[in-house]
Amino acid sequence: MKTFKEEKVMVVDEVFCDNCGDEILGISECLSIDHQFGYFSKGLDGTKIKLEICEKCIPELLGSILFEKGKRQADE
Ligand SMILES: [Zn+2]
Repeated sequence: MKTFKEEKVMVVDEVFCDNCGDEILGISECLSIDHQFGYFSKGLDGTKIKLEICEKCIPELLGSILFEKGKRQADE
């Protein structure tokens, strides 16, 4: 026999770009970073980074890494 309990679950309602503020219509259409630096990192001990960047802002913010240094890759 299984018994059940009611549980509240949080789901994503809306997503906005942390750079331009535009609404992001699909969570897969953005770069999502959720990271906490550990201790012994250089200068960012325990710092949490949580942000979403829309497709439009990615070239502006990360273009030099993605395009000039060749870090952009198609599906593997
Ligand atoms: Zn944006």
